[in-house]
Amino acid sequence: MKLKKESYLKNVKRIVVKIGTSTLTHSTGLLNLNTMENIVRQLVNIHNQGIEVVLVTSGAIGAGMGKLGLKSKPKTIPQKQAAAAVGQGILMHMYEKLFSEYGKIAAQILLTSEDMSDRKRFLNARNTFFSLFNQKVIPIVNENDAIAIDEIKFGDNDTLSAMVTTLVDGDLLLVLSDIDGLYNANPKTNINAKLISYVEEITEKIKCSAGDAGSNLGTGGMITKLKAAEIAVSSGASMIIANGSILNIINRIFQGENIGTFFQATKNPLQSKKSWIAYNTAAKGKIIIDDGAKKAILEKRKSLLPSGVKSVNGKFNKGDVVYIVDSEYKEIARGITNYNSLDIDLIKGIQTSDITDQLGYKNYDEIIHVNNLVILNND
Ligand code: GLU
Repeated sequence: MKLKKESYLKNVKRIVVKIGTSTLTHSTGLLNLNTMENIVRQLVNIHNQGIEVVLVTSGAIGAGMGKLGLKSKPKTIPQKQAAAAVGQGILMHMYEKLFSEYGKIAAQILLTSEDMSDRKRFLNARNTFFSLFNQKVIPIVNENDAIAIDEIKFGDNDTLSAMVTTLVDGDLLLVLSDIDGLYNANPKTNINAKLISYVEEITEKIKCSAGDAGSNLGTGGMITKLKAAEIAVSSGASMIIANGSILNIINRIFQGENIGTFFQATKNPLQSKKSWIAYNTAAKGKIIIDDGAKKAILEKRKSLLPSGVKSVNGKFNKGDVVYIVDSEYKEIARGITNYNSLDIDLIKGIQTSDITDQLGYKNYDEIIHVNNLVILNND
């Protein structure tokens, strides 16, 4: 198992590194320059070895608080947004200074969850990243906190970093936090808690131990980190959680030291398009299907045809991501629909040969083609 991890790390070509607020800032809210400098130097070092690097950084709100002299985390959304708007500039100023000292070009990309859920914006963002990689630029990403309100928020940079990993087809996500990794119990209250250094599969048991072992500092505790791990590993990237305050942590990981928790990437990753469908946070509606269609989708890996549809819930357009739910309302899959909700309501239950009669047109036989469908729950 150690070998698997070592050989995996040797073949990493594109890495996403996430740094949390507690690693980047002192308790005063001001930037921890030693840590920042140390991390930037290590990132430059791996970039010099030919590995493409994306940095997902938190700390905008924290740095803004420091600059504005706020003693505690702002409570209202406008106050948080103001702090983020002030702090993001401070953060970037420092990264720009540090990366250019080492001869690298940095770029800023600020994302909201809408950039992920809208397929066009997703592809646009992807093109921007690839264009930056081609020009040897290091993209620095944060959530666009200054404009993101709850409905369009990732909410935590653990999730954001996992989404970015799928967006750029990264093969390793390194989450640098204020904890050493995933424990089998809460290390703060249980002296027998042991660090889990290798996770081959994220099982229910692992999720339960995360529930107990969470760090409450920063926005994301252990649960958001495990969610991030699920997204990353299912899209074919491995993930490591390690303590960002350990000196030279990135170099030490790449030199094969057994630090932190390593989550093994799945052997059968979802293709980029499918992982976009699976983790799109803004599915627009539901299509309720009968048992025959459920069986066809789950067991025979077939497309969803009108004949298997019982009803539609919500209003959505052609091209939107929707849930497919069974007759007990259990979500079994997600997919991109070829027909809008009104048309599906008109063609539900009929044979594909009757679609034209019913709608006056037929662009597709399938409501959701198997290539645009991701099965989520196959218990
Ligand atoms: N985007 C937030 C910031 O830069 C951080 C979110 C997080 O800590 O996960 O302050």
